[in-house]
Amino acid sequence: MYNASKFPSFLNGCGGLLFSWGDNFHGLVTLGTRFDGATFVSNSMIMQGTTEQNGFMREAIRLAADNVQKGGGPFGAVVVLDGCIIGSGANRVTTSLDPTAHAEITAIREACRHLGHWQLTGCEIYSSCEPCPMCLGAIYWARPAALYFASTREDAASIHFDDAFIYRELQQPLEARSIPTFQLLRDEGLRVFSAWETNPDKIRY
Ligand SMILES: [Zn+2]
Repeated sequence: MYNASKFPSFLNGCGGLLFSWGDNFHGLVTLGTRFDGATFVSNSMIMQGTTEQNGFMREAIRLAADNVQKGGGPFGAVVVLDGCIIGSGANRVTTSLDPTAHAEITAIREACRHLGHWQLTGCEIYSSCEPCPMCLGAIYWARPAALYFASTREDAASIHFDDAFIYRELQQPLEARSIPTFQLLRDEGLRVFSAWETNPDKIRY
């Protein structure tokens, strides 16, 4: 459940527990609609957000800035459903000794706990920075309706968070990647897949 005490001035319309822009939503800027509720400038993916969208992005950025003050990484994210924040996160890699504790992953985990589901159907994710490949993968697995980010992977690279490097690695063949990567025991690995395929109680996801 989202910690409402973080946002005492914004509690309205979300059951007293979640962050909402309530009646502050004033509709769309009309510049070539690409998604429902999202508008884009010319052919790029850069958009002028609505009051509500900009508010959620500013909250992600605020989480990032707050995290910097606490000695953490400069990244924040929120997950939004029906105008309410149902999950938020900041980068906790160094403070929790967890290389996977990125803002988006943390926010997705909190949102899924809130929903009681492994999928973020109908949700939007706002991240203060373009997601790294790990988080982008998690976002695709979570299947939200849309993703918004503020600064880019190139901006992150300029302050030595080299997400761009991992994006380049993904395009390399296995033998050319910087972390030596090998395949072993494929037949034994495949037996697990057979067990999954024949399990009548499996939950597909
Ligand atoms: Zn990440």
